[in-house]
Amino acid sequence: KPIIQISNLMKTYRLGGETVHALNNVSIEIEKGEFIAIIGPSGSGKSTLMNMIGCLDQPHSGTYLLDGKDIGKLNDNQLATIRNRKIGFIFQNFNLLTKLTALENVELPLLYAGVSAKERRERALEGLNKVGLKERAGHLPTQLSGGQQQRVAIARALAGNPAILLADEPTGALDSKTSKEILLIMKELNELGHTIILITHDLAIAKQANRMVSIQDGQLQENGGELVGNL
Ligand code: ADP
Ligand code: ADP
Repeated sequence: KPIIQISNLMKTYRLGGETVHALNNVSIEIEKGEFIAIIGPSGSGKSTLMNMIGCLDQPHSGTYLLDGKDIGKLNDNQLATIRNRKIGFIFQNFNLLTKLTALENVELPLLYAGVSAKERRERALEGLNKVGLKERAGHLPTQLSGGQQQRVAIARALAGNPAILLADEPTGALDSKTSKEILLIMKELNELGHTIILITHDLAIAKQANRMVSIQDGQLQENGGELVGNL
């Protein structure tokens, strides 16, 4: 059974007298172990879709089943619980806490999850090791390069062993060489079995995934469709 089953999802905003269909009848299935890129220009609905997939928001109509659970039927507390258990977020600007070391940043979600100190440390070190940063565990974010900070953020996203890694423009703040390194890490994680959803406006980045879907005016097209033909 697919880890994500989205059917006929609608999300509508009213701006003054205008109605904007940020997501317009979106349907998609994503299997466990996929590495999929969702590509679209600014204003196409990427953030809205990401918020939906990441359980930060709920659909106005249509259904979203995450690991079989109907996300549209949950209250805010249940939504937060599912989000913390199932989704590892990776952001453009890393969102690390500047006063905590790399190791402490990675441990933080485990602390909130009530994991014991010893196990937190073990799992955080394992995560840093996966992204090749074990030797930087004691460094503060300001002592790390952008690429290294993003690797810490990836380790943090992995810490709770989420079903899905959801990456929003993960290379948007990085130079092209460092971007390639980050994509390589994502590929390696995918080969280890992690399900990865990458959201980007950059075709070169999207092409690194195993499957590409485009979004334009809130509508999805498999294989990039016309949009990619026009880029
Ligand atoms: P992207 O992330 O691809 O730039 P968004 O999902 O942010 O696209 O936006 C999709 C559409 O929905 C855009 O037309 C945007 O103006 C509109 N939109 C997004 N959020 C809101 C909001 N809170 N209120 C009104 N319109 C919004
Ligand atoms: P990467 O390619 O992994 O992003 P860089 O080549 O940018 O790394 O950086 C090389 C080294 O310089 C890194 O190991 C890092 O410790 C150090 N470094 C880079 N940027 C900074 C910074 N802003 N502050 C402190 N140290 C930095």
